[in-house]
Amino acid sequence: MRILVVGGGGREHALCWAIAASPLCDILWCAPGNAGIAAEATCVAIAADDVDGLVAFARREKADLVVVGPEGPLVAGLVDRLEAAGIAAFGPSAAAAALEGSKGFMKDLCARHGIPTAGYARFREAAPAKAWIARHGAPIVVKADGLAAGKGVTVAQSVAEAHAAVDACFAGTFGAAGAEVVVEEFLAGEELSFFVLVDGTHALPLAGAQDHKAVGDGDTGPNTGGMGAYSPAPSLTASLQRQVMDTIVLPTVRAMAAEGRPYKGVLYAGLMLTADGPKLLEYNVRFGDPECQVLMPRLASDIVPALMAARDGGLAKFDLRWRADAALTVVMAANGYPSDYARGSAISGLDAIAPDEAIVFHAGTKAEGGRVLANGGRVLAVTALGKTVAQAQAKAYAAVDRIDWPGGFCRRDIGWRAVARERGEGSGR
Ligand code: AMP
Repeated sequence: MRILVVGGGGREHALCWAIAASPLCDILWCAPGNAGIAAEATCVAIAADDVDGLVAFARREKADLVVVGPEGPLVAGLVDRLEAAGIAAFGPSAAAAALEGSKGFMKDLCARHGIPTAGYARFREAAPAKAWIARHGAPIVVKADGLAAGKGVTVAQSVAEAHAAVDACFAGTFGAAGAEVVVEEFLAGEELSFFVLVDGTHALPLAGAQDHKAVGDGDTGPNTGGMGAYSPAPSLTASLQRQVMDTIVLPTVRAMAAEGRPYKGVLYAGLMLTADGPKLLEYNVRFGDPECQVLMPRLASDIVPALMAARDGGLAKFDLRWRADAALTVVMAANGYPSDYARGSAISGLDAIAPDEAIVFHAGTKAEGGRVLANGGRVLAVTALGKTVAQAQAKAYAAVDRIDWPGGFCRRDIGWRAVARERGEGSGR
């Protein structure tokens, strides 16, 4: 098969790594890719949001399958355009990608179909939004409706903070994504990410993962795209997984089909484990980044037939095997991230890390004159497998410590909650 992966971050490196290992894959391209992806795929200089350029390339090269990594091109209709051109594509249509592209759409769908989620209201003007907030009090959550690169959510601890978030949205901080605001009830509990493959009708559970959004140790400091993750998630028991499938995922799949937006692709449910049971925080219409970097190394089966089955409507009798091992990834970011950071600092020591020690997925790098240079905020995702999360953590940090990159930093406590649980210390702080 001739396969094109769209995107150029750590998620796409993990996808390319898994797809390149498939005996079904003859030729693999990645657009635009990065310095690490170049070891698995031929990188093509087409941006992930260049829909016309990607369709033209896939056509010219007679791609048999296009796997779309990021949400932007999915929401913009890349899969619709590829399929209309006769090219098989993995991922939801634009109509189905609205589950992530519009938080208001997602909340209304949940309301119409009785799917458990936080109480909410949608607003196009500041005054009624502020009145709703004043009536409900803090803590309360303010979200830009559209795609805001993970920055559109404010968990406000005071009414004043929530009002300021509403003003920021309507002042254009998030561009068109903030033209509408969703205000929702604050949910307390432990967070969990759960991934399923969906073929329009059937859903095949993949695995759970947990990530660390805050930049600093102890989950302190500003939020980021994710500073590390691990899988499996110890809190996702078999019975909880069944409950999530029965009360959240399958009702969503049925609802989307019934409303004429059949969902195909990977569905990533962000869940809060509340005292009243699991509730949906958000849907993402793609693999998580960095969660993909821990899911792919745990997958023992060939991923390519699974991606094809999701696209072809063939998941009913599909099964995937997973390694019993835990996987943990530590994100290394450029100094200063998530605020201003510099690009172009040199990274060395990567070649010395053997594949059985750790896999170094590249999130934001470029190759120049035989060197690897940082080329983004999140730059590397150092991933290791172990019998326990603690073992995977020790191996990942041993590899991190052998990477020579004065321009970067990482958290030193990725996985702390799971490690404490393994030690019998309960779920933490
Ligand atoms: P989202 O992009 O909607 O998942 O929001 C980003 C983060 O904000 C989530 O991972 C949660 O940590 C937090 N969050 C979102 N919605 C809520 C809520 N209703 N209650 C508490 N925390 C929330």
